[in-house]
Amino acid sequence: MLDSMARNAQGKIALSGLDINELTDFVKAMGLPAFRAKQIHTWIYAKYASSLDEMTDLSVELREKLKEVADVPLLTISHLEVSRDGTRKYLFALPDGQLVESVLIAFEDRPNLSVCVSSQVGCAVGCTFCATGYLGFKRNLTSQEIVDQVMCIQREANLRVANIVYMGQGEPLLNTKNVIDSINTINLSVGIGARHITVSTSGIVPGINELAAANLPITLALSLHAPDADTREEIVPITKKYSIHAVMQAISDYYNTTRRRVTIEYVMLKGVNDSDDQARHLAEMLKDVNCNINLIPFNPTRNNKGEIVYLRPDMKTQKRFAEIAGRTGRTVTIRLERGTDIDAACGQLANKFVQSK
Ligand code: SAH
Ligand code: SF4
Repeated sequence: MLDSMARNAQGKIALSGLDINELTDFVKAMGLPAFRAKQIHTWIYAKYASSLDEMTDLSVELREKLKEVADVPLLTISHLEVSRDGTRKYLFALPDGQLVESVLIAFEDRPNLSVCVSSQVGCAVGCTFCATGYLGFKRNLTSQEIVDQVMCIQREANLRVANIVYMGQGEPLLNTKNVIDSINTINLSVGIGARHITVSTSGIVPGINELAAANLPITLALSLHAPDADTREEIVPITKKYSIHAVMQAISDYYNTTRRRVTIEYVMLKGVNDSDDQARHLAEMLKDVNCNINLIPFNPTRNNKGEIVYLRPDMKTQKRFAEIAGRTGRTVTIRLERGTDIDAACGQLANKFVQSK
């Protein structure tokens, strides 16, 4: 049992990110009564303990015994950048040395803090505008590695997070089981309600169906990015495998099962997907879909050759697109940008470090 548990960079079994059942298995394997798991759970998730030494209702002797094999964090903060607007971007080293990033987003006009988590190291989908896509796929994250991103941030910044978005590195619905497990732990152990959790996908039909079957009251966001097959195939290559039609059918089934309104994300790329025609087409195709539309101003990235391939349309074009896209009754918002001075867009920080090695 102990052998199968994840160890941190120091070779110690990491307890943060485990749910109450897993902590119970751990204490039992250590020959301890089950109530010890509850004590440890409270220290980790309610008091943000970062070491066993802080767990003062365990005797010194017991703490020493546990410390021989275990510790709290799984991930190590390898780099932290703080934006002028308060956004904090973390680069985490996983136990095997791979890097992933998470972002703590502090909106000035909202008291609630959001954390953007990664679900994979790199990504296999290869969207042509995305820094994570340029990295390629390395591996899936475990549920524990996803949950500990949130806990590491809460411990480091000493604050409570209210919302989680799966919009960091990776395609969550190509790692659906671990993502669902992590949602359950974030819900039950970290204490963030499913209604405050959003999973963003590039449109993986089997994953959307699996998530629908789990019937969690989370928000599903679909990265649509283009209403026409030609443009979408060019910028989101997985469209060749799961067509727009198949994805929209899965989204409609998802709504019928969960009754949760979906979000349609649309990253604005100058001269690629920002025309009036495309806005009209989008409005038409979404007129009967129970959704909100979220336009994302593109954050320019450099591809593997160091080239900037895409640009962001000017504000006037973005607003015009929003107005047309909303003509059939959907609510359209333009995403407020945070942390642009620290490369807080998806994949950008890890990319910088990987490429400079
Ligand atoms: N793989 C998932 C979730 C991670 S990406 C997905 O694609 O949905 C989260 C969102 O950020 C997606 O909508 C993605 O298209 C968008 N994104 C990626 N790179 C971006 C960039 N450079 N600027 C703005 N948005 C970007
Ligand atoms: Fe992967 Fe999402 Fe980036 Fe596309 S946008 S490459 S799916 S992380």
